[in-house]
Amino acid sequence: MVALRHNRARSCRNHRWWLILPLILLLLAADFHPAEAQSRKRRRKRPAAAKTLSIVELRLRIYIDWVAAPLDPRITNALRRIPATPRRLLALKYYLGRLPEVDSIWAWTAVQARAYRTTDEYRQAIAEVTHVRHVFDSLYPGYTLLAPMEIRSLEAQLRNWNSVRSVAVVADSLFDSCIAMMADTTSPFGRSDTIHAALFGDFLAAWETPVAPTVAVPGLSQHGQLRAFDFRIYRGRRLIAGATAATIERAWDSSGWTAKLNAAITLASSRFVGPLPNPYEPWHYTYIPANPLQIEDVAKPEPQGETPSPTPFTPKGIPQGEDE
Ligand SMILES: [Zn+2]
Repeated sequence: MVALRHNRARSCRNHRWWLILPLILLLLAADFHPAEAQSRKRRRKRPAAAKTLSIVELRLRIYIDWVAAPLDPRITNALRRIPATPRRLLALKYYLGRLPEVDSIWAWTAVQARAYRTTDEYRQAIAEVTHVRHVFDSLYPGYTLLAPMEIRSLEAQLRNWNSVRSVAVVADSLFDSCIAMMADTTSPFGRSDTIHAALFGDFLAAWETPVAPTVAVPGLSQHGQLRAFDFRIYRGRRLIAGATAATIERAWDSSGWTAKLNAAITLASSRFVGPLPNPYEPWHYTYIPANPLQIEDVAKPEPQGETPSPTPFTPKGIPQGEDE
């Protein structure tokens, strides 16, 4: 009897297990089947999609090369050092809009930067920044203003361009638009028999960026010739307002440091213009040297036979940030 009851209980448990088996199978199917199916679908579709993309992207790369080929060698060299096609495409777009600035503000080489550091212009820049810092520190006791005397090399600017996320966001958007055009056989860019390089250059120059990237296109940052400073505010050793776009509202505007820094700079010196308005960077001030001609002489890679005219150091072209 005991054995019978035991058997019946086991049979009953087995019976219940069979009742919930469909439910278990359903759950297993829900959990794993679609994922596996999608994976299979991806495996099936990937080669074809990749093939289609590669032909269209290849055409886009040919267009980039054609538009870049006649440009200044400093630009074509920089473009070669941007491996990701979308980022290279966006850089080309910005270069097309800023060609007149290349001679005057292209980032100094290490040799040029060393030469610049021996000039009166550099000493004046240090004196101006130091004075701004002293005025700030006396206006706001307990707080310290710092501004690195950084000449941002082309290499550093390329590193930023190749890694900063805000560049990828805009670059991917431009890349997608171009890929769509290249894939459209009714568009002049969708035909493989002719390259419409000039037309593509016009398209790039006219394409409006949905948002501005937070760094400048490599070579054309104002920091490349120490024509700009990024001010940072410390309380003791703690950075409370730095050059980071994500902190603008909290660390700069709401807390009042945007206005306080501007008041201190305005009081201390007439050689700074700022902050950078578009895209908005409350820490970034353009520096206007007292004697730009001297800087131009240092900046020229080789004597050109005629005296260049001083370039006004105001942001030009399509809005771009300067700092991450
Ligand atoms: Zn800056």
